[in-house]
This record gives sequence, C-alpha cells and structure tokens, in this order.
Amino acid sequence: MAEAAYTYTDTKLLIDGEWRDGRGGRTIPVMDPATGDEIGTVAHAVREDLDAALAAAERGFATWSKVSAFERAKIMRRAADLLRARKDQIAWLMTREQGKPLAEAGVEIMAAADIIDWFAEEARRSYGQIVPARAANVRQVVTKEPVGPVAAFTPWNFPINQVVRKLSAALATGCSIIVKAPEETPASPAELIRAFQDAGVPAGVIGLVFGVPAEISEYLIPHPVIRKISFTGSTPIGKQLAALAGLHMKRATMELGGHAPAIVLDDADLAKAVKSLAGSKLRNAGQVCISPTRFLVQRNAFDGFVDGFVDTFRATRVGNGLEADTQMGPLANERRIPALEALIQDAVDRGAELRTGGRRIGNTGNFFEPTVLANVPTDARVMNEEPFGPLAIINRIDTLDEAIAEANRLPFGLAAYAFTSSLEAEHRLSTEIEAGMTTINHIGLSLPEVPFGGIKDSGYGVEGGSEATEAYLITKFVTVSAS
Ligand code: NAD
Repeated sequence: MAEAAYTYTDTKLLIDGEWRDGRGGRTIPVMDPATGDEIGTVAHAVREDLDAALAAAERGFATWSKVSAFERAKIMRRAADLLRARKDQIAWLMTREQGKPLAEAGVEIMAAADIIDWFAEEARRSYGQIVPARAANVRQVVTKEPVGPVAAFTPWNFPINQVVRKLSAALATGCSIIVKAPEETPASPAELIRAFQDAGVPAGVIGLVFGVPAEISEYLIPHPVIRKISFTGSTPIGKQLAALAGLHMKRATMELGGHAPAIVLDDADLAKAVKSLAGSKLRNAGQVCISPTRFLVQRNAFDGFVDGFVDTFRATRVGNGLEADTQMGPLANERRIPALEALIQDAVDRGAELRTGGRRIGNTGNFFEPTVLANVPTDARVMNEEPFGPLAIINRIDTLDEAIAEANRLPFGLAAYAFTSSLEAEHRLSTEIEAGMTTINHIGLSLPEVPFGGIKDSGYGVEGGSEATEAYLITKFVTVSAS
C-alpha cells in the first residue's frame, strides 16, 4: 500500500488568503470509508466566518476583475501544472477520505488540470460584439463582464472535479468565488484551492468554507454580495436552492441527479457494450450523477448482456482504494448502505430477479457488492429513484420505440447511453432522447471542451465547453452617438 508515504492533515477554512480555524473553534470529524476510522477533522464555519469570507470575496472581486484575461490565464495554467506535480499526494488524500481507487483519484486530478487549462484558454475569449447601427454616427457595443462573487456548493463523489469546473469558470471570467466544499471529503478540494493560491491568485478571490450545508447556503444565497450560485447535488436540494436563488434574483447553475438509461439494441457490438457499460457503472462505485442505471436491452441481446454483467461484477475486486489491485472502493457514506438495501429489497418484493450482489461486504468500511437486478417492474422504487451505488437494473425491451419511451419516462434528463450499429437508430436516439448528454457506441462524456449538464429535473446550465463561461458573465450594451 502507498499510504505510508503521506499523512492525512486536518482541513482549515480559507478566508482572505489565510488558512484558519472557524471562529467558534468547532470541527467536524472526517472518516475513512474503507475502515470507518476517524482520520482527521475539518473546520466548521460560523456566521462570523461567512461574513469574513463575503467581505473578502467582495474585495477579491474588485482586484481579480481588473486583472487582465491574459494574466488570469497564465496564473490558471500555473495552478494546473502544480496540480499535476502534486497528483500522487492529492490522490492519496482523496482515496483516504472518499474511498475511490487511487488510480481513479489520479485520473480525476489529471482531468481537473485539463479543465483548468481549458478554462484558462477560454478566459481570453470572452468576446463581445459591435452591432451595426441604424445611423452612421452611432456605435453599438456589446460587452461581457464578470457577474460578480459566486457561491458554489459541491458534493463528495468527485471532491475535486465538482469544484474545479465552477472554480475555473469563475476565475477565467474574472469572478471571485466562495466554495462550500463537502465536509466528508475536505482535504483534496482544499489542495486544489491551494494550487491556485500557490500559483498567484490573490487573497480573497477564492474562499473555502465548511459547516452545516443548509445553514451556509441559506445565508450565502440571499446575501447581496453573492451574484451567482452553482450547485451540484441531489434534485430535491437543488430545487430548494434554485427556489431561494429565484427569490433573490440570483443566477443559478444546477447540476442535479440522474437515472441514466443505457439502450442496447440487437444489432450492437455486445461485447463492447458489456465492457464499456459495466466499467462505467462501477466507476466510483456507481456514485456518479451520469452513471448508467436503467439498462434497456433488446430481446436477442438480453441474456448475453445479463450474463456479461454478472460475470464482470463477480470478478470485480472490491477493497480499500489504497491497495494496488482494488477495482472498486467502498461507498463514501455509510448511509448509502441501508438506502441501497432498501431499494433492492423493494425491487425483489415486487418480482425483480437479484442476479448477483445485493449485500454489504463485511462489517468494517462501507463496502457493497456490485449488484445486478433483472426484469425489474416499473413501479419498483429503484426504477424511479437514483440508486447512487454499484447497482445495475437490466430490463428487456422489444423495440426502439419502447426503449425511447422508457428512457424518457422519468423526470430526470442528465445522461443517456446507447449501443447500436443502425444509422437510423442512432439518429432517432440522438434526437428523441430527453437528456442533456447522449453517448452512442462509446463512453464519451465529461471532457473539458464539451458541454456537461442536464435538462428537466436534472437541472439547468452547463459546466463544460465554450458555453460554460456564459453563466459567469453579464451582457452589457452601450450605444454612443458621435454627435
Ligand atoms: P444530499 O441530498 O443530502 O446531499 C447532496 C449534496 O448536497 C451533499 O454534498 C450535501 O452536502 C449538499 N447539501 C445538502 N443539503 C444542502 C443545502 N441545504 N445547501 C447546500 N448544500 C446541501 O444527498 P447525499 O446523501 O449526500 O447524496 C445522495 C444523493 O445526492 C444521491 O442520490 C444523488 O442524487 C445526489 N448527489 C448527486 C451528485 C451529482 O453529481 N449530481 C453528487 C452527490 C450526490
């Protein structure tokens, strides 16, 4: 194991460029999901800390919005390089607090560096435009300016990735930002932010706070200093925060839950579909908003697909993410274990077949068996609620019409997957599936240069691609008559 090389350190708040404890002196314990041991603490912010973070963000915005896009981009690229150089240490911290295998943690960090580079490049392209005027002596100018201080709320499943998209878009456009990062996994996002600080981002531009999520969001969102919010998490919480943002006329980006359909037609390359989709399902132990969940497999491919999934899931080595041969780590939170057990029991009670898995592994750590449920009735809870765990539902479909109807049945609309060799089916899937992102015949989502986001109950706004900076910019129009 690689653990001896590093130490897990307690995480502080970052306020006005200073790493410090909360004014109340309280801390929250951080647990290792693989052992159940307390491995450190994170500082707990009180109102006084939030006020200090807000005042710093206001000053930080005044400073950073005047730094040229060219300079901002240089600092951001430096942060990306620091992150790459510190990959091994930060990956170790992430695995200890979140549970994912070291290799996955490393991929997340390298991907974060690529995201920073992407936004650093975008920083220099916040173009406005000149609009032709009706009179010869009139000039009409449209400019883009940073919206102002941002409040971002991020979850524990991708401790760095969920922060870096919001942070990079904010910094690229000249905004300051207060991040409320996850209390369960605080050290790795703190290291991301330290890389920006070490790269030269001035004090106050980035704040980092932890505490009681609802107390912090209810204070920051209505606060007049905050001009935009961005949240990643569950749909019920997202709706609450979006309502609060609406009440106070704050811009909001909402990246919420999903329940992704994965359609496999008879004419698909079955081996490729099984390999790609099973790997994708078990990534991060299924705790991924875009995780494929409802596998809708056409009649002739069905048995082979189920057998392929069962074999792959049974052969998956579940264990401590620090061990080199681990393919799937524990669940990040113990509360997901009873939640998964209840979903599985409900499905079985309604007639679903439990083909493999279904139970907790051992009594130490939050390990859960990769699980396959087949022929699950539509009214089972798991067909309607996001399982957020290593659980695949595989159902038989007869026609593409049936598959599309089932895919669109739920209010979620985040990601969709499909495997087919029919050009006609590909066309119908790309136009008729109600999802913000659809990937056909490969797993191709979540790159820095393409949009990432959902529709319907999965939220609004995108966090990747050239569209992503728009949410952090305001449009201003100035018209001037020369005489
Ligand atoms: P949860 O709904 O309690 O919390 C989800 C996230 O939102 C957490 O990071 C939490 O700290 C934060 N949060 C909760 N209440 C908040 C509030 N009032 N203000 C600000 N932040 C708040 O769920 P959970 O048990 O942590 O996770 C399980 C569910 O969350 C999953 O079923 C999934 O739907 C969702 N989730 C989604 C993502 C994603 O990537 N979209 C990530 C993590 C969790």
